[in-house]
Amino acid sequence: MSEAESRNAAKERIRHRRSHGRSVDALFAALRSGDRQALSEAITLVERKLPAAREEASALLSLCLQANATSRRIGITGVPGVGKSTFIERFGLSLIAQGHRVAVLAIDPSSSRSGGSILGDKTRMNELSQHPNAFIRPSAAADTLGGVARATRESILLCEAAGFDTIIVETVGVGQSETTVHGMVDFFLLLMLSGAGDELQGIKRGIMEMADALYITKADGENTTPAERAARQYASALHLFPANDNGWTAEVGTCSAIEGSGIDELKAVIDRFFNSVSASGWMVENRKRQDLLWLEEALRNEVMDVLRQHSQWDALFNAVRDDVAAKRVSPFSGAHRLVQRMLGRSV
Ligand code: GDP
Repeated sequence: MSEAESRNAAKERIRHRRSHGRSVDALFAALRSGDRQALSEAITLVERKLPAAREEASALLSLCLQANATSRRIGITGVPGVGKSTFIERFGLSLIAQGHRVAVLAIDPSSSRSGGSILGDKTRMNELSQHPNAFIRPSAAADTLGGVARATRESILLCEAAGFDTIIVETVGVGQSETTVHGMVDFFLLLMLSGAGDELQGIKRGIMEMADALYITKADGENTTPAERAARQYASALHLFPANDNGWTAEVGTCSAIEGSGIDELKAVIDRFFNSVSASGWMVENRKRQDLLWLEEALRNEVMDVLRQHSQWDALFNAVRDDVAAKRVSPFSGAHRLVQRMLGRSV
């Protein structure tokens, strides 16, 4: 048997035998039929870290990629309390009423098996979560943002294969999480509160630069006028920013998830955005670019995993770490030496 043939045979075996639950092929078939239980099971599989689970996940993801399903990937961010869940519930139900199927994933950097979570374990998006054309999944728990991001990115592919045509990835303004979400979506929505006068202070400039739309939430009752004023201030501030690389200028508006105002307008903005970037070719290019960035990230993780599995890792790493701490070598030559030694080369 040639090397390629034996590789294919190994893949076949993985697809037919899973250590937990149904075979990868059966799971994929259930997923394609839109079975939400199968989608949950598939996401749990991609979240697992054991090598056997990773192999099964990889076989499943290959089948999903071949299915060539696609969707609009929309990122949503904003500080806790800005109204993200209330907005997503309203927005999602409105899309479903038009015949769409909506999946909501989350990236919560504070979520780990031991710790708390900012996006919260409270029951969120009650009505949306019960709708048969919606699927809501809380953030994966992992040790690092990179781990959560990988699981979420793979979950997007699973949701697409399961026939969800709109994927919302929600996050909070903590650390690098917005940049991470921006790297896996097509359209990025920033939700903001109208503040007391100091509207531009609350959010990092870099996040505003990434936004394709910036909406002020809770524009109802007494807050209507302050919200509109804040929107005008943001609109003029955004004019000073360079245009986005997709040739799109961020749209600014106000909305109230409670009254339902601004939602249709934002949906029209999103339609215009997708029409524009599909026509210009940016959408395809951007996804390619995102894939290549994820390849680099995956490669770094993979190489680190291989290094850590080396029998000499602990001893060699500890020695180099002591040298760096004692300033006997620089971090850069320390890393270089370590890798050379692990490759069996003398330094
Ligand atoms: P999240 O932390 O960003 O997900 O925010 P939530 O959706 O949980 O909303 C935080 C609070 O703001 C809740 O008490 C909501 O009822 C309230 N809220 C959300 N949207 C609106 C809105 O459009 N108008 C008003 N007045 N309150 C809202």
